[in-house]
Amino acid sequence: MLHIQTPLIQSLSIPQNSDTKVWLKLENCQPSGSFKVRGVGNACEYYIQHGAKKLYASSGGNAGLAVAYCGRKLNVPVTIVVPKTTKQKAIELIEQEGAKVIVHGDVWFEAHEYALSLLDDESAYIHPYDDPLLWQGHASMIDEVVEQGVTPDAVLLSVGGGGLLLGVAKGLEKNGLSDIPVFAVETIGADALAQSMSLNKRISLDAISSIATSLGASQVAESAFELTKTGRVMAISVEDSDAVDACYRFLNEHRMLVEPACSASLSVAYHHKHNQLKHYRNILVIVCGGVGITPTQLDNWKKHFKL
Ligand SMILES: *Cc1c(COP(=O)(O)O)cnc(C)c1O
Repeated sequence: MLHIQTPLIQSLSIPQNSDTKVWLKLENCQPSGSFKVRGVGNACEYYIQHGAKKLYASSGGNAGLAVAYCGRKLNVPVTIVVPKTTKQKAIELIEQEGAKVIVHGDVWFEAHEYALSLLDDESAYIHPYDDPLLWQGHASMIDEVVEQGVTPDAVLLSVGGGGLLLGVAKGLEKNGLSDIPVFAVETIGADALAQSMSLNKRISLDAISSIATSLGASQVAESAFELTKTGRVMAISVEDSDAVDACYRFLNEHRMLVEPACSASLSVAYHHKHNQLKHYRNILVIVCGGVGITPTQLDNWKKHFKL
């Protein structure tokens, strides 16, 4: 097992009515800085047990970092192909884990295709969100929540390509909670799930215009779109400025710095306008984390959005 058991704490500062408890699953405490290591760890271990000797991935974000982390722990060489838009800081973090970084392509899809072209019989490719092995690994966070003594009646989480959503849905199902609602939060400009749901067809965004780059999958996994047909998934889109505001509040109140991709979910808990939540008594918020944030970056976003 490559992930750690993360704390589950009750937030007293996130305003809700007095009958509601808000529980924070602190996946930002994972060794790779995000929940990704749960699924990625599960997939890496599986592929290596089945003969893989090298690992490849194509993300300059938290998925790439998780693969690099797992490769170091498992003693297997890792190559991460990242698009040209990837920040130097992200490349350094991946290299710090001992992985090789190749910069290729203008967008994620080009890096992804190039990584696939490098595979041979001894390599395994770790997709950032679309692999049942990832969902199985992510599901462990719900097992933990239940073991930690909390039975949620609603879940709030962020959606990029939908891997976290699929994993949480799997975990809820395993624990007899498959009928509780899952509020799936995206930022406007990275809202491929919300747009697909409203058009009743899995669409592909032409461009990602949100600052929450970890939510910037142009299309959600087919299985994620299929899951929405159960009627248990409620899509919510928030403004980038709401995510930045929630990021800052979370830092002030809980002393933890997370990406806007993560605070997008927190913003729904913070803002009373989303009163769909007021009927629930035990709301579980997945604090998915993310390493793509610094105090300076947060300051710059705060100024940009005049907060
Ligand atoms: C990957 C990631 C997401 C989105 O997860 P998906 O599985 O792509 O939906 C959200 N927040 C953070 C911090 C992430 O690393």
